[in-house]
Amino acid sequence: MSTAVDSPSAELAQDLDRFRALTALQQPTWPDPAALADVATRLGQAAPLVLPSEADTLRSRLAAASRGEAFVLQGGDCAEIFAEASATRIRNKIRTLLQMAVILTHGASTPIVKIGRLAGQYAKPRSSDDETRDGVTLPAYRGDMINGFEFTEQARRPDPQRLEQAYRISAATANVVRAFTHGGYADLRQVHEWNRGFMSNNPAYAQYERTAGEIDRAIRFMEACGADFDALRFVELYLSHEALVLDYERALTRVDARTGNAYDTSAHFLWIGERTRQLDGAHVEFLSRVANPIGVKLGPTTSPGDALALAARLNPDNAPGRLTFVARMGAGKVRDVLPGLVEKVTAEGVAVTWVTDPMHGNTITAANGYKTRRFADVLDEVQGFFEVHRGLGTVPGGLHMELTGDDVTEVLGGTEAIDEAGLARRYETLVDPRLNHQQSLETAFLVAEMLRAR
Ligand code: PEP
Ligand code: MN
Repeated sequence: MSTAVDSPSAELAQDLDRFRALTALQQPTWPDPAALADVATRLGQAAPLVLPSEADTLRSRLAAASRGEAFVLQGGDCAEIFAEASATRIRNKIRTLLQMAVILTHGASTPIVKIGRLAGQYAKPRSSDDETRDGVTLPAYRGDMINGFEFTEQARRPDPQRLEQAYRISAATANVVRAFTHGGYADLRQVHEWNRGFMSNNPAYAQYERTAGEIDRAIRFMEACGADFDALRFVELYLSHEALVLDYERALTRVDARTGNAYDTSAHFLWIGERTRQLDGAHVEFLSRVANPIGVKLGPTTSPGDALALAARLNPDNAPGRLTFVARMGAGKVRDVLPGLVEKVTAEGVAVTWVTDPMHGNTITAANGYKTRRFADVLDEVQGFFEVHRGLGTVPGGLHMELTGDDVTEVLGGTEAIDEAGLARRYETLVDPRLNHQQSLETAFLVAEMLRAR
C-alpha cells in the first residue's frame, strides 16, 4: 500500500521544531551554519526513504512481539561506512539476518520481526568531542554522516554535505534491501543457497545445513499438498538507526496525508541512545512528535522512575508497539538492574516491547588495545534477560545485535575461539566490535533454545 506524504504545515512545523530550544547532546559543531541550512532545505524537499504505512505495519509487529506472539531481531553495524555500501556487503548483512531469522523461526516456531541497523546508521555518539594523537587534537570522528575517520584536519571537519551523501547512500541501500527481500533472493526455497561458500566443518554451519534440510523438506511437503504462499517468497525487513543528528531527522520528517501525523521518513524505526535520553533533552522532545515506532536504550543507571517518565513522555496514549525499551545493562548487571525496571513498568500497565542489547554493556579493551567484547558475555546477558522475564512472567521481546555478514575478527570467542592475538587478523570496525557471520549464527541457535523455553 502506498500513501502520499506532504511537508508539515506551519503549525505542525512549529511543534516539530520545539526541540531546537532544548539541549541537544552529541551534535557536531558545524563550522558553516549557512551551508547546513541549505542542506536541510534540500533534504526537506527530498523523497522519503520509507512510508508511514510501512512504519505503521512495523508498529503492529512490535506490538505482537510485546505480547509474545513474535520476536524481534534487530542487527547490523555499529556504524555503517559510505565506502562499504556495496551490493555484496549489504547482501552479506541481509543474508546473516535471514539465516538468523530462519534459525529462530524454525527453532522456536515464532514469527521473527526483522529490523536492520541499516540505511542510515551513519552517526555515532562519542565519549569525547576531541581526539588527541601525538600531541595533535582534532574533532572526534562522529560517523560518516558528519566527518571522515582519517586523522587530518580536513577529514575531521564536520561537513553538512555529508548529510546529503548519507541520504543518497541510504536511499541506494534501501533500494538494494528491497530488491534482495522482494526479488527472489529471500525466497525460503533459497535457504541452502544462503549458506553456500561457508566452511561446512564449522559446527554452526553444519547445524545450519541440518536446519535448512528440515525446512526444505517441510516446504516440499507443503508444495506437494498444493500450498503456495507469498510468505515463502518475500521478507519484511525494516530499516532503523539511532536518531542522533536532529537536523537530519527533522529534515526528513513528513506528514502522512491519510492522518495528518508526522513521520520521520529516514527509517521505519528510530531509537534514542543511552547518552541522549534525557527527559528534558532535544532527542526525547523531537521523537515524541513523530508517529514511528521508536526505541530507547536503557543502561544500568536507569531507575524505574526514569523508565516510567520516558514512557509517559514518548507514549502518552500507551499504544502497544509504539515504544521499545532496549536494555543494555552488561552481563554482570542485567540480573540485578533489569527486574526492578520490568516490574515497575509492568505494575503500572505501561505498554512496552522489551528488547535486549547484549553488546553495549559488555565492551572491553584487550591487552593489545583492541576495543572488543567477549562472546560469552554477550550470550550471558541474553540468558540473563530471558531469566529476568521468566522470573517475572513477562515477555522477552527481542534481540538487538551489532553484527556483520563478513568474517571479521572483532569479538573474542565463539566456536572459532578468536583470542586477543586473533583480533588483529581482520579487525575492520571504526567504532564498536561486531559479531562475524559465524558468531551470529551461533547466537541464533542458542537464542532459539531460550526462545523455545519462553
Ligand atoms: C549503539 O547502539 O551503537 C550505541 C551507541 O548504543 P548505546 O546508546 O546503547 O550506548
Ligand atoms: Mn555501537
